[in-house]
Amino acid sequence: IAINISVLCETSKYNSVLPKAASLIHQVYLIQVISTNSVNPDTIFANNEMSLRDIEIYGFDYDYTLAFYSSHLHTLIFNIARDILISKHRYPEGLRKYEYIPNFAVRGLHYDVQKALLMKIDAFHYIQLGTVYRGLNPVPDEEVIAMYEGSHVPLEIMSDFYGKSTHGHTMKQFMDIFSLPEMTLLSCVNDFFMRHNIDYEPVHLYKDVKEAIRDVHVKGIMYRAKYVCYGEQSHAVLKKLSEHGKKMFLITNSPFDFVNRGMTYIVGKDWRELFDVVIVQADKPSFFNDRRKPFRRVTDKGALLWDRIHRLDKGQIYKQGNLYEFLRLTGWRGSKVLYFGDHIYSDLADLTLKHGWRTGAIIPELRKEIKIMNTEQYVHVMTWLQSLTGLIEQMQVHRDPASQAVVDEWIREREAMKPQTKDIFNAQFGSLFRTYHNPTYFSRRLSRFADIYMASISCLLNYDLQHTFFPRRTPLQHESPFWPEYSPAGLNVSSRLHRSKAESD
Ligand SMILES: [Mg+2]
Repeated sequence: IAINISVLCETSKYNSVLPKAASLIHQVYLIQVISTNSVNPDTIFANNEMSLRDIEIYGFDYDYTLAFYSSHLHTLIFNIARDILISKHRYPEGLRKYEYIPNFAVRGLHYDVQKALLMKIDAFHYIQLGTVYRGLNPVPDEEVIAMYEGSHVPLEIMSDFYGKSTHGHTMKQFMDIFSLPEMTLLSCVNDFFMRHNIDYEPVHLYKDVKEAIRDVHVKGIMYRAKYVCYGEQSHAVLKKLSEHGKKMFLITNSPFDFVNRGMTYIVGKDWRELFDVVIVQADKPSFFNDRRKPFRRVTDKGALLWDRIHRLDKGQIYKQGNLYEFLRLTGWRGSKVLYFGDHIYSDLADLTLKHGWRTGAIIPELRKEIKIMNTEQYVHVMTWLQSLTGLIEQMQVHRDPASQAVVDEWIREREAMKPQTKDIFNAQFGSLFRTYHNPTYFSRRLSRFADIYMASISCLLNYDLQHTFFPRRTPLQHESPFWPEYSPAGLNVSSRLHRSKAESD
């Protein structure tokens, strides 16, 4: 990087900015030093200070929290839903040649139901240009800007609090890991219709795909398949908590039979002894809101019993119910309870906002993204990007034509680097957590609803149960960073880096 700047400065037309730019070289070097600290993918990250010392009761979601599935399951969901579209909804036979594309979509994307566009939106409701897809092809920026009269999406058309699209809310957000095949199927069918110039109604398509995917889940087609792939180290985590005398419970939307087979595989036949309460088919998020649904006992064979529930007993299986009743029967209230889930909205939002339990988000994608961020290539790109931003910020005040020419060149270079910072994560949509410079809509929700977040529940094995998680105290935009400034001329490049970290929080 230093060499890059030197080369820039040696060119005669850059003479006017040479002294200033040269003085920045050592700051760039400092950034390099700061940013080469690699992050351990098994770290638990804190949005909010929390001590495990205070936690007496641990609760878990099941799918993608305790049990993980191979991407093979996504292929299966895609194939079955595609075939349902053809056989039940009379979609064209030609769709059958579309296969699941494993790395097409990322979680947290928004889908404009009326315009049939899949896209990534940032924390300020701006569309990340370059990530808008119609079918399997990107939509040119100019076309996006014309359609949305800019790139801002008004609140009125964003999906509701749970990511669902209701009347008038045409932007649906896909938050579930199971929604990866759904997004891919939508894109494939859109692609087919456009390729063949078929006039179709995107709203009907969205509803039909949603229904076909729901059929795969609800009608149990998926539950009959044996696709529990691995439990990572879920068993070791549960054992550790149990050995430390912690209470544990499970609240899942999946049916008992499915959970039982998975947990037997992950933990063993006696898995139920680890849990004080097991709730299946809970119907989250309405489980957290709807006081009316009573708990119902289910036998091992799946038969529903009719007796009124006065206690939630260990060893028994309960279906549905609601959180208010759960709190009344167990007395497990407030910040001594920590609940883990992978769905930021339906698992964690209400607990944080209404009920005061502590929350832990399981974000499996973190592991892959951190590994990418630790690569030399990524560190190099980001260091140069931050350096350029710092150079532009400082040098823009020089209004003479020669200096402006250099600054303009830097601005163009910064623009040209954007695709690199995106494509390194996913060629279509980039990182789950960032648009080019901002946190994503997903990131913002994550930081609001999760006290802590991690790639897998197994990260808990790296900490003892007295550990306190402290969020990094990053300076707010109006606060000065705590380490000394290196340049007498106000803001310097290293403080830019520090600020960009603050933005991500
Ligand atoms: Mg889940």
